[in-house]
Amino acid sequence: MAGAGLNDLAARVAAGERAALARAITLVESRRADHRAEASALIQALLDRTGKAIRVGITGVPGVGKSTLIDALGMRLVAAGHRVAVLAIDPSSTRTGGAILGDKTRMTRLSAERNAFIRPSPSAGSLGGVAAKTREAMLIVEAAGFDIVIVETVGVGQSELAVAEMVDTFVALMLPGAGDELQGIKKGLLERADIIAVNKADGDALHPARRAAAELLSAVKILASEDPPRVLTLSAATGDRLDDLWQAVLDHRARLAADGRLATRRREQGVVWMRDMIRDGLDAYLAKHAGAARAEAEAAVREGTLAPSAAATDILGRLP
Ligand code: GDP
Repeated sequence: MAGAGLNDLAARVAAGERAALARAITLVESRRADHRAEASALIQALLDRTGKAIRVGITGVPGVGKSTLIDALGMRLVAAGHRVAVLAIDPSSTRTGGAILGDKTRMTRLSAERNAFIRPSPSAGSLGGVAAKTREAMLIVEAAGFDIVIVETVGVGQSELAVAEMVDTFVALMLPGAGDELQGIKKGLLERADIIAVNKADGDALHPARRAAAELLSAVKILASEDPPRVLTLSAATGDRLDDLWQAVLDHRARLAADGRLATRRREQGVVWMRDMIRDGLDAYLAKHAGAARAEAEAAVREGTLAPSAAATDILGRLP
């Protein structure tokens, strides 16, 4: 795409044209070197229009109710005059080709809304690469005038921490039923979450959900953090206490903005983003220029005939 084409695309994204938005995100997700250069130029052209959205991350195990929650919450926000974008990070879709989050069929009401935009996880590359592309997609939807961006991820592996690194407020969605389940909750997640919400607090699960919330509250108190996460219960299915959740998001963000932590957090996130992109770029370079040697080295390490450190030194030695 020539410069004029890029300027035209940037203008159409800024005007909020849906087709341009989809095209811009496809460009950002591409791994082709010429597309990477164009994507960088596009983001640079749109930079002034970015950064104004409320950025919220939502994590939770499959089945906890993420899509039900985002569908219901998104509908309320759209009804209140907001424009809501939903982006997903699911690195497992790279390997399995399945379990793609943010799929339109999962948020049936919201996906039909003109003021909502739902994008499944990019499905190529390392977690760092997927995260970097999602950050760029976030800037694009902000430039297109979406004032709320929800980034969704499955609460398994490192992807939830990657999401925590790119949002203002990070929500961990939990299932009712505590005790043994609580043991399985990673301390890291409790430390990173700004809000812990126990979903499915309805019907027979109402009491277990409240008990789970009480136990989670004791668990976060032990962390003795200066700004411990807010713990609440809700029902995505009935809509009960959804307003509480959104108010907790706004309260948290207001606290961050008031003492300057919002700006600090976003700047630190910029550094993490840069490191991710460097790592991803190095990985892409090695795949292109030393792919065969790396595959051989991996095989030798797997067989035990080559030490991992020697293999890494050899491969890194191939960088110019
Ligand atoms: P996800 O995998 O985290 O996106 O979870 P889903 O949103 O697909 O929900 C998984 C299942 O839980 C579905 O059958 C939902 O209908 C159900 N579910 C989601 N939220 C609630 C809730 O608040 N209460 C009840 N009772 N069921 C819910």
